[in-house]
Amino acid sequence: MKKAILITILSLFTLGIFSQTLDTIIYNGDSDEHINVVILGDAYTSANHAANKLNTDATNFVNALLNESPYSEYADFYNFFIIKRNSVQSGTDHPGIATDVIEPLSPVQTRNTYYQTTFDVDSIHRLLAPMGTGITNAYTDLANVFPNYDQIIMLVNDTEYGGSGGTIATSSVNASANEIAIHEMGHSYADLADEYYAGDQFAGERANMTANNNPATVKWKDWLNILGIGIYQHTCSSGNCSSWYKPHNNCKMQFLGSDFCSVCKEAIIDKMYSLADPFENKIPNLTSLFSFNGNCTTFGSNLILTNPNTYTIEWELNGNIIPSRTEETEVWKYEDFDFGTNVLKLQILDETSLSKSYLPDDGYFFELSWVVNKVDLCSKTVDKFDYVNSFPSGSSAGQTTADDFDWTEWVGSTPTSNTGPSSAYDGTTYLYTEACCSNIPNKKAIYFTDCFDLTRVNNPKMSLAIHMLGKDIGKLEIAVSDAGGNTNSYTVLQTFTGEIGPDWKEFEWDLSPFVSPYTKFQFTVTTGSGIEGDIAIDYLRVFSGCASSLTLNQTHTGVNTYEAQSTITSTSNVLSGSTIYRAGSSVNLNGGFNVNAGATFITQQGGCN
Ligand SMILES: [Zn+2]
Repeated sequence: MKKAILITILSLFTLGIFSQTLDTIIYNGDSDEHINVVILGDAYTSANHAANKLNTDATNFVNALLNESPYSEYADFYNFFIIKRNSVQSGTDHPGIATDVIEPLSPVQTRNTYYQTTFDVDSIHRLLAPMGTGITNAYTDLANVFPNYDQIIMLVNDTEYGGSGGTIATSSVNASANEIAIHEMGHSYADLADEYYAGDQFAGERANMTANNNPATVKWKDWLNILGIGIYQHTCSSGNCSSWYKPHNNCKMQFLGSDFCSVCKEAIIDKMYSLADPFENKIPNLTSLFSFNGNCTTFGSNLILTNPNTYTIEWELNGNIIPSRTEETEVWKYEDFDFGTNVLKLQILDETSLSKSYLPDDGYFFELSWVVNKVDLCSKTVDKFDYVNSFPSGSSAGQTTADDFDWTEWVGSTPTSNTGPSSAYDGTTYLYTEACCSNIPNKKAIYFTDCFDLTRVNNPKMSLAIHMLGKDIGKLEIAVSDAGGNTNSYTVLQTFTGEIGPDWKEFEWDLSPFVSPYTKFQFTVTTGSGIEGDIAIDYLRVFSGCASSLTLNQTHTGVNTYEAQSTITSTSNVLSGSTIYRAGSSVNLNGGFNVNAGATFITQQGGCN
């Protein structure tokens, strides 16, 4: 919609090629994402500019505009800039040729101004507008310093009352100037008609003017009998005003100092939303497929807010509204998505009471979407607990080629003296990394496990027996992923550096921060510089730790034991296999609890010690 060529132009401008200058009055954000109102000043001399008179006049206008509903509610959507251009003289032309007053109503004068504004346009005394090459000058200045403007205002440094609402909304700096400029911007910006009868040549269908007086079909029928909105016939001393109707009898499009009527407010908001939407950005800013990376990613947008806030925010994933997600940015986890292609949408509905255009639900509705790809990295998922792996033959789930050498399955002592265990910690086999030959120095060996569905384990823990003996021992890193080992998804649980001692030692980690259906472990050795640096692991266990009380809501397959020091409360459905509840005092089986045919269910007292 908008082009970001402003920066190029500004840099030309700072080289002094142009003799106009650009100042910022209010900046709410990126000009591509906001509505840019550019104010040109005519009849401001170099002395006026030296005194910042245009800055002052423009600031007064902007403050008045942003105090006026519906600009006040949507102020953050607008940027305001001024272009300062010297005129030879202040004040502007009063030719004294109007036919709607007895001329000369004010002293006849001719002024040398850059945009060549004049009163008495179309023989109407108060009609003030730039003329001839002055209009060309205005568009040349805009093209040179701010080509991506959305609305132009021209403030004319003359105190006579007047203005006009053409493409360039024009206003003098009369005491009523702010009201004139806001009214004229109603014409230029929102294409509103005057709600007084300005003459047959100005009559036509507009948001706030119609020849249709049928309450069932009039364009503002949704507003009828609300806040003074009706179907009011225009009145005039001459012309065809009786054919035309307006929505209100006291609108700013009729009387300066009045508010905009509801129909005009809605037209202004409609215009705004035709130029901008509430999204200030897109996070991440991708139009192509997003390959899920890491455990979690923030999706969303910074919003241009309304005051008061009238937005409803919804998130939709694969066609389903997610009621728990109501923020403009939300963190989404790997497990939130399905494998394969997902469509994630952020949807904003502005339900402002100032408009009925959003009704029924497709008016002020805005949407961002992302296509998210989730790759299944779990070749196998363990869902039976407690799980024990003593690394017997053939159990190596995860050697990888993304390292320098492999872990070795071994029985008895490792080949080098003064390093490595003499036997397994459990059973006869274990895994170790041989610190020798091409495996040193500073070489990596990575082993990763199967995935574990930790949603099936209460208070899950992992333990591992580790053997690190020898003067050249390097480093062992224990890491966990709750995203199936997805890129960048590992969190380091612990890093062991140097010797632990002559014996195996068992370590235990709490997995409750990493519960997902795709929890996976990775063990990474980095060798030291010498051969006395064998590192061994054995007896990997993933199991349920003990809780004081348990509330279980999942179904069970396989063999499960749940232990609690006091109470186990469950609405679980025991589908198959065998499930044991061991509670210290009581087991409460709530509504919905079923033991299916073929399943074994046992409760025991004694619980967790
Ligand atoms: Zn109105």
